[in-house]
Amino acid sequence: MSVPKTVLITGASAGIGSETAVAAAESGYDVAIGYHSDRAGAEKTAEKVRALGQKAVLVQGDVSDPGDVIRMFDEVDSAFDELGVLVNNAGIVDQPARVENISHARLRRMFDINTIGPFLCAKQAAIRMAYRYGGAGGVIVNVSSIAARLGSANNYVDYAASKGAVDVLTKGLGDEMAADNVRVVGVRPGIIDTDIHEKGGQPDRIKAMSNQLPMKRAGTPREVADTILYLISDKASYITATSLDVSGAR
Ligand code: NAP
Repeated sequence: MSVPKTVLITGASAGIGSETAVAAAESGYDVAIGYHSDRAGAEKTAEKVRALGQKAVLVQGDVSDPGDVIRMFDEVDSAFDELGVLVNNAGIVDQPARVENISHARLRRMFDINTIGPFLCAKQAAIRMAYRYGGAGGVIVNVSSIAARLGSANNYVDYAASKGAVDVLTKGLGDEMAADNVRVVGVRPGIIDTDIHEKGGQPDRIKAMSNQLPMKRAGTPREVADTILYLISDKASYITATSLDVSGAR
């Protein structure tokens, strides 16, 4: 069943989130562009959305901060009549490290942003979307990672585990919301060509890995964005509580 064509995308100042904002605008969605520190990147995404004739609003906040998340959704309430879609996309990686060398502070940051952030945002979205609370229905997309299936040994098992928990959120919340006209779906991207690798201290990761990847190349942000657009569309109306690999056979 159709849901309002409005979307909040966390982490839309760069990479997959920014590309998803553009793809959503091309499909007629108004877009709330979530960002944390990269205001210029968020403005750039907004310009592209507006050039496509759709409304764009910037929503700043740290997804791991409960107060910020409530304020971000209040701002979305002011911008849109109703929120139809949440894309839980904001996320981080860290430097390669074996588990025995991962600090408590790093674990807290990884799980706060990658796992608790999506929980906090999904909660606010569900309250607004669910039939049981008077909502019009909606779709929540969780951007996980193929790392959740692979484990990321010798690289970042903490990241993989933070995304494994996101997959469980997709399944469990999807089951809880099935009768409320709220679909909850996930995507598990493989190696995608964005700046996240450089931010995590591996600027040459794509170049170094491309030849070892099954398709001999990284994926593009657009390939993930197009999958997300399919999953939020009516064409995917019977798909919920499950996740799709966008990983080129990884
Ligand atoms: P990216 O280009 O580094 O973008 C990350 C986005 O997340 C930025 O917009 C950033 O906002 C935002 N963000 C980071 N920390 C935040 C926080 N505490 N609160 C709010 N926003 C925050 O990364 P990407 O590659 O597009 O990744 C997007 C998602 O895909 C992530 O969840 C990532 O784990 C997942 N993924 C990526 C790959 C890949 O190979 N690229 C593979 C699998 C999964 P600011 O810059 O404004 O702070």
